[in-house]
Amino acid sequence: MSLKVRAQEKVERAGISNYSFDQDVLVMCGVRYTISACDCGEPDCDGVRLEKDATVIGRILQ
Ligand SMILES: [Zn+2]
Repeated sequence: MSLKVRAQEKVERAGISNYSFDQDVLVMCGVRYTISACDCGEPDCDGVRLEKDATVIGRILQ
């Protein structure tokens, strides 16, 4: 399973439906999150980590 699919499941489990993907970047509420693998080893870890992208993209919602 790709990281992108895992990230999508993670977001949907959190009850968030207004998200989209820009290439391999997850976009939620106008905030971009870089998807990376997580190997923290926590029992409840789903193996994916979302990190806020530092890039400022301004308003995407009109
Ligand atoms: Zn983890």
